[in-house]
Amino acid sequence: MLKAEIITSGTELLLGEITDSNTPYIAAQLAGLGIDLYYSSTVGDNYQRFYGVLKQAWDRSDLIITTGGLGPTQGDITRDVIAGLLGEELTVDPDLKREIIELFSRRGMEMPENNLRQATIIPSALALRNASGTAPGWWVEKEGRIIVTLPGPPHELQSMWDYQVLPRLKEKSGAVIVSRTIKTWGLSEAKVDEMVSPFLATANPTLAMYAGTEGIRLRITAKADTEDEARALITQREQDIRGILDNYIWGADDETLEGIVGQLLRSKNMTLAVAESFTGGLLAGTLSRAPESHEFFRGGMIIPSNTTEDSAESAAKMANQVRLEFAADIGIAIGGSVNTADGNTRDSACIAIATESDQQAIKANYPSRLPQMTRRIITHSLIYLRDFLQL
Ligand code: ATP
Ligand code: MG
Repeated sequence: MLKAEIITSGTELLLGEITDSNTPYIAAQLAGLGIDLYYSSTVGDNYQRFYGVLKQAWDRSDLIITTGGLGPTQGDITRDVIAGLLGEELTVDPDLKREIIELFSRRGMEMPENNLRQATIIPSALALRNASGTAPGWWVEKEGRIIVTLPGPPHELQSMWDYQVLPRLKEKSGAVIVSRTIKTWGLSEAKVDEMVSPFLATANPTLAMYAGTEGIRLRITAKADTEDEARALITQREQDIRGILDNYIWGADDETLEGIVGQLLRSKNMTLAVAESFTGGLLAGTLSRAPESHEFFRGGMIIPSNTTEDSAESAAKMANQVRLEFAADIGIAIGGSVNTADGNTRDSACIAIATESDQQAIKANYPSRLPQMTRRIITHSLIYLRDFLQL
């Protein structure tokens, strides 16, 4: 069983100039492979400190993944640090040198002397091709450990991961890992935890819970020698969980609520229009990204929120108006107003649905900060719409 550790490098990260998106990407990839990630750290472009962090990782982890610091400048020191730790010499690899020169000449440029640094490698490393930049990554295996060295720019890192790292790691981890995510709405994290608690402690399959603005997600992960065996473990556990959480489950894996609502509308040959005074177009934006949205989504209106009343009646009126305005079968409206002095927390919103023959509305509380709250309202309005369409 591999124990993994991530080291991101770059002084920009420590200055808050860029936000680290490489760690979450790699972490999710490792989780998908069933490889345990125990530590992650960020270090600046400083030889001594990078060396210290790498040494610590070498002493406690089997798989170390570094990102950044593979560029051509003196500040890009990742290669030097690894060579230093492993006591190996960096030399120019003639093939890598030729490739970098060719890359520059394809761009009509001559290779600056500094870029030769990117063609240097140590004996234990295998170069990983970079499809969208000049810096090759490294795959190093030594003394039972693996160091994977990746470039900092996320698009370079991700394509290198997909094509060069993932296949090698799959081979190393031996077993097949399969996972499935079950998505719920309407229960608190504590309640879900209580309901599924017997399954949270089992080792294979494992069950993990994540709370988000789309509700509580449960991820089942199984490990086995073959994919069929892993899937069988998952199917069994999914049945157990469906038996318990039942109607609170709205989807699985990459299913989205807007996709589900869109599918229902299309199957009923109905169209939808949206009026938002509270969520500033977020519902319209979400619906417009659903598959085939042009078939059911007629359009939306944004109404400044401090001009509307936070009442079910006014939301229902808005829903009906927008329905007529866009000649849609259904209108949905989200209303609300700023409730506190700081303008940053709103604790309730109204969601209304109107058709030619019917109007209905709900008022609900969302005890969270504004950005999360608006996301929750979107989820809730899509759930409300789904339930309405399923009647
Ligand atoms: P380059 O050859 O472009 O210098 P590099 O491998 O040396 O690449 P860095 O110099 O560390 O990588 O970073 C280059 C750029 O990549 C950064 O300016 C930033 O835009 C992006 N980047 C680096 N690390 C991260 C990270 N952890 N998360 C998100 N973006 C990153
Ligand atoms: Mg760099």
